[in-house]
Amino acid sequence: MALREIITVGHPRLRMRSRLVKKVTPEVRALIRDMVETMHEADGIGLAAAQIGELVRAIVIDVPEDEDVPGSGKLYTIINPEIVKMGRETEVGTEGCLSVPGYIGEVERATQIVVRGLDLRGKTFRLRPRGFLARVFQHEIDHCDGVLYIDRLTASDRIWPVKVGEEEQEEVKRGAAQEKARKEAELQPAAVLAD
Ligand code: ZN
Repeated sequence: MALREIITVGHPRLRMRSRLVKKVTPEVRALIRDMVETMHEADGIGLAAAQIGELVRAIVIDVPEDEDVPGSGKLYTIINPEIVKMGRETEVGTEGCLSVPGYIGEVERATQIVVRGLDLRGKTFRLRPRGFLARVFQHEIDHCDGVLYIDRLTASDRIWPVKVGEEEQEEVKRGAAQEKARKEAELQPAAVLAD
């Protein structure tokens, strides 16, 4: 296992489409292990292979059940993830991204989706994430197509600076973050990210 460097906005690979995995080889499994290790080390709750510069359709997600206990959630690793069904109901919430350090922004996402993908043995499976977990899946699957949450802001000024390293925690405490962000937005002119 190895820690990998997370690339950030401005890096061209972050904007490219990742390719489908044809066969789940030991190399693909090694890549997934690196992604999990890198995500945990960065205190992230999700990571796509594109974020470590590997243009391969693969994502890992680990949202802690208890935000104070790292590793208390369920770890999802999905190869060739695909949203096969998107619920009509949507919800506005804030998101952060390890590749957009120092910011959180407001994005509208479906609250229920059906995701299909391959597991580490190459077997097809389906998941039905709801609520915040559905949001994280949509965010990570976007990365496979070179799409960032900053492309999906509810409005161009619905993005706010946060202390670097706190984006993901803020994401988990999204209620509090939204409240904080609203107050910040009232106090200062909105910072628009130059991407
Ligand atoms: Zn991200």
